[in-house]
Amino acid sequence: MGSGLPAGQRVRTAVRVEGIVQGVGFRPFVYSLATGLGLGGLVGNDSDGVFAEVEGPPAAVEAFLRSLARDAPPLARVERITTTAMRPDGTASFSIAPSEAGRQRRTLVSADTATCADCLAELADPADRRFGYPFINCTNCGPRFTIVRDVPYDRPLTTMAGFAMCDRCAAEYHDPADRRFHAQPTCCPACGPRLALLGPAGAAALPGPPLETAADLLRRGQVLAVKGLGGYHLAVDASSEEAAGALRARKHREDKPFAVMVADVAAARRLCEVDEAAAALLASSRRPIVLLPRQSGAEGVAEAVAPGNRQLGLMLPYTPLHHLLLADFGRPMVLTSGNVSDEPIVYRDGDAAQRLGGIADAFLTHDRPIHIRTDDSVVRAFRGREAGLRRSRGYVPEPLDVAVRFPRPVLACGAELKSTFCLARESHAFVSHHIGDLENAETLRSFTEGIEHFRRLFDITPAVVAHDLHPEYLSTKYAADLADGVSDLAGVELVGVQHHHAHIASCLADNRASGPVIGVAFDGTGYGTDGTIWGGEFLIADLAGFERAGHFAPVPMPGGAAAIRQPWRMAAVYLDAAYPDGAYPEGHPGDVARRNERLWPGVLAMARRQVNSPLTSSAGRLFDAVAALLGVRDEINYEGQAAVELEQLADPAERGAYAAAITPQQPFLVAGRDLVRAAAADLAARVAPSTVAARFHNGVADLIADGCLLLRERHGLSTVALSGGVFQNLLLLHATVSRLEAHGFAVLIHSRVPCNDGGISLGQAVVAAAAG
Ligand SMILES: [Zn+2]
Ligand SMILES: [Zn+2]
Repeated sequence: MGSGLPAGQRVRTAVRVEGIVQGVGFRPFVYSLATGLGLGGLVGNDSDGVFAEVEGPPAAVEAFLRSLARDAPPLARVERITTTAMRPDGTASFSIAPSEAGRQRRTLVSADTATCADCLAELADPADRRFGYPFINCTNCGPRFTIVRDVPYDRPLTTMAGFAMCDRCAAEYHDPADRRFHAQPTCCPACGPRLALLGPAGAAALPGPPLETAADLLRRGQVLAVKGLGGYHLAVDASSEEAAGALRARKHREDKPFAVMVADVAAARRLCEVDEAAAALLASSRRPIVLLPRQSGAEGVAEAVAPGNRQLGLMLPYTPLHHLLLADFGRPMVLTSGNVSDEPIVYRDGDAAQRLGGIADAFLTHDRPIHIRTDDSVVRAFRGREAGLRRSRGYVPEPLDVAVRFPRPVLACGAELKSTFCLARESHAFVSHHIGDLENAETLRSFTEGIEHFRRLFDITPAVVAHDLHPEYLSTKYAADLADGVSDLAGVELVGVQHHHAHIASCLADNRASGPVIGVAFDGTGYGTDGTIWGGEFLIADLAGFERAGHFAPVPMPGGAAAIRQPWRMAAVYLDAAYPDGAYPEGHPGDVARRNERLWPGVLAMARRQVNSPLTSSAGRLFDAVAALLGVRDEINYEGQAAVELEQLADPAERGAYAAAITPQQPFLVAGRDLVRAAAADLAARVAPSTVAARFHNGVADLIADGCLLLRERHGLSTVALSGGVFQNLLLLHATVSRLEAHGFAVLIHSRVPCNDGGISLGQAVVAAAAG
């Protein structure tokens, strides 16, 4: 309409849109907006985001700009729109410009997104050409982060590059009115990836249609490897004790719970208590595993799926393949990471055959490569708010906004367990996907390759590298090697960040706060500035620094790492501290000592002489001691197991609490042994272990409140930040938050990043930025 007007009545404006604007249908949105308003011009992707030029009557251009941020497509996240006036040149038509690689890569890549409702409708429609096609996707859904090799986000730079679009797909791809306009992973049965069902060790294809045959194998109790978005899963019938047991035995995973995939929220409600907040998390397009309280008496999930656990991790299908498999199978299925014990999830086809060959009876796989391994995320709802425990698929690589800026680019290397790294620049902190425990070559490779990939994707060359103080962590050594070695970062500035300071800084960053606060960092292990092992810490902290204001009175850890694997050693030490004259109450130390009588005297002697017995103020070790004392467990086979099981044992209705004395020096000392003495006395008096466990939890919550009250008096601070893996304990978290709030404290807890060591890298990054 504008072409007939004289140039003087037209304006032309250049527009730049930054944020998550690629791979989310932004160009088609701009196209239809502009053509709908009768504007001429163009729109395109480059490595800074989306650029456009629009030309037409001033009112139409203004309407365009108003609508641009307000009506953006669902997966888009517009961070900034800038405009520049141009000279109109009379362009009447609107076009989409081809992508070009630019000099800088400032664009954001979106996370993988669950199959949308439109695609699900087509998947189920026999008249649709993608009926039953396990790789259906569109601009609003499908794989993203896991298939992106580089930016700009365009098909040739994804793992879909090898699939040439058929004519019909190409027509949709190029039609601005189509839902698949510029949907990079779009495909169909004629041109896209194909499903295959391979036999044991990923060898020959099994006869029959892959999907139906796979569902049949599940029904017969077999273990199925399934290639998903970020790696291979292992699936079994969740109702079958034999199948779940076989999977445990073959995976060498003795007790750690498996996640279960169910068809929908209604199916989830048949197994677990699902409130509004949890239902929203389950059904969100991020599709995390949601930890939920189990329905009492619910059937359909074998005991071996989550042995002795009051919670169950559930997730809904997030790929078309999951939808189809689950619909055919017809009941809940275990879906757990495809790996052996503590190795990272398998994501390459050759690796899968080799490493999962001894576990899976068959492989439901396909020929779309996974570029980067990404585990399922794990969350729960706490007081109606999302609380992330593992931030990975569906969340990564979206940047987190925090209260500081990063004028100098930062790489933070994280800790060791539940490792993540963080790359940060300007207003963006990119916390990586969950890498796992950095203790084997495969995980370390994942870590180093992940850092390279993120650096390339987001064009970040760190000027500062932050790391833990623990000299033996592989992440610390990696940082030192970067600075000393032959890398492009030789000579880069290193910043060591104390572990518990990083925890509190992470909690502050998570809450877009900067302190100062009273920080309570309770976890298993963290290297202290005095060379001892910290882990039950009260800090006065802001982002730039901290002061150790209080902690548990240190105790020896006889045998070092052995004391972490064998909680009974901590029971021996704490009983010794509780009864220094050996005057145990009748019947005690009793059972725990009897069960370990062969090693008990030697371990105690080692602790008393402080031989191979590093000192620790760890809260995690105190939980271990009480767990062993109560007969919960003398040895663990996954990190934090004794504490997890102690929480499960505790009676949530019990209100009694043990008291721990606080010695008011600076830093103050909390007598953890007081709690152990009270627990031992109750046990001797035949109080039920479930009551003792609850009184212990309540006692820890009380001592946290007491410590914070003392620090409020000393420092005048009334905000408390809670961080560290111990706060994954819901019973403790509830008890602590209610006590602190009753005393008038504002309480900061984690939401976007985990309170466990998965959040450490973000904390290190903000500390490095604040300190610089
Ligand atoms: Zn879709
Ligand atoms: Zn096609």
